[in-house]
Amino acid sequence: MTTTRFAPSPTGYIHIGNLRTALMNYLIARKAGGSFILRIDDTDPERSKEEYVDAIKEDLTWLGLTWDRIERQSERLERYEAAAEALRASGRLYEVFETPTELDLKRKKQLNMGKPPVYDRAGLALSESEREALRAERGGYWRFKLDHARIEWNDLIGGETSIDAASVSDPVLIRADGQVLYTLASVVDDMEMGVTHVVRGADHVTNTATQIQIIEALGGTAPGFAHHSLLTGPQGEALSKRLGTLSLRDLRARGVEPMALLSLMARLGSADPVELRSEMAELIEGFDIARFGTAPTKFDEADLVPLTARILHGMSAEEMDADLARIGVPEAERAPFWEVVRENIETRADLEGWWRLCLEGAEPVIDAEDAEFVAEAMALLPETRDADTWSAWTAQVKEKTGRKGRGLFMPLRKALTGMERGPDMGALLPLLKTIRARG
Ligand code: GLU
Repeated sequence: MTTTRFAPSPTGYIHIGNLRTALMNYLIARKAGGSFILRIDDTDPERSKEEYVDAIKEDLTWLGLTWDRIERQSERLERYEAAAEALRASGRLYEVFETPTELDLKRKKQLNMGKPPVYDRAGLALSESEREALRAERGGYWRFKLDHARIEWNDLIGGETSIDAASVSDPVLIRADGQVLYTLASVVDDMEMGVTHVVRGADHVTNTATQIQIIEALGGTAPGFAHHSLLTGPQGEALSKRLGTLSLRDLRARGVEPMALLSLMARLGSADPVELRSEMAELIEGFDIARFGTAPTKFDEADLVPLTARILHGMSAEEMDADLARIGVPEAERAPFWEVVRENIETRADLEGWWRLCLEGAEPVIDAEDAEFVAEAMALLPETRDADTWSAWTAQVKEKTGRKGRGLFMPLRKALTGMERGPDMGALLPLLKTIRARG
């Protein structure tokens, strides 16, 4: 069965880059009728926080990216220990003792000599007594011994990919304090949970190479891998520093609609155009990982504005009922109010301003040359207003003042709403409870 996973570390809020990973894995699983696992990579007890676990679940739920099961690495430590034991037994996991400073020095020397800064496997050359002495002195940690061959896979996005294992340092799998690192934990989980496809960012390509060898050393078969390109800003600039402001909860707070975000991210960086979808099923149906490319993908938050607006413009009053109720629109007025403002909002947050206008009226905007005209018109505006008031009133004002067209309507709109643009005045006028331009 097709099985994918989204595996965030609960060390912060998930952002737009994580969403790309989550969404692709989700869509692959759903399209195949398979299973989507939410895996919490929480082996680091210092940096992992429960509040982030909750936040991740909340953000995915907001988007409708539902998982079939949740797994936590912190609950599977014996499994990783068993795998480490197997690797030790087969001679693929070896103890090393260099401090970060010593490693740094080695790297500098290698670079000076024009050599790649790859770990020199000094740990392998130690005798048992040397090892014991170092262990007592500073404690050891553990590296996986790569087989120095080319590691190849057919990447579902990048195509044929190959990395020379000799150009990569033997990865550290277990720290001196015994903490199992992501590289091993992830491999054990992917194998034991039957993961068939791993989609993640291009920054994981080297991890993939080493993980393929670890999987094989543990007697498993590598899943399919896909590495999506990194997101950049609209000008191609690195997004890494701005990702903090592009967390899903920030986007949500800025009024972005889930389907706007999902529609964009399901297509951005692929050969297919972005199409606004209103149902997850359509996104699933239209998704194909093979359509994505390796070129960096430009993300512009501004693209979410028209998509969000289009989603809202297509909503019915019933679908907006909770929002209308929340800002205090009485039930009987919700449908007419929604019809009046729907085309004039970009996000749900804009509703409030329009409702306040209805309740409190707007600070009138009256140009000096229109002052007399507006005063005259306001004197004619009836106390009770219905759907026909605007046309009857403006006809009367026209007759009385001789004004017509823009010169007639625009000063009235500005006097009543304080704005040059906005909803159809005929429909808005009956909803206006306060008219400040009356003076
Ligand atoms: N916890 C890892 C990360 O967030 C998961 C990477 C993976 O998908 O294997 O980078």
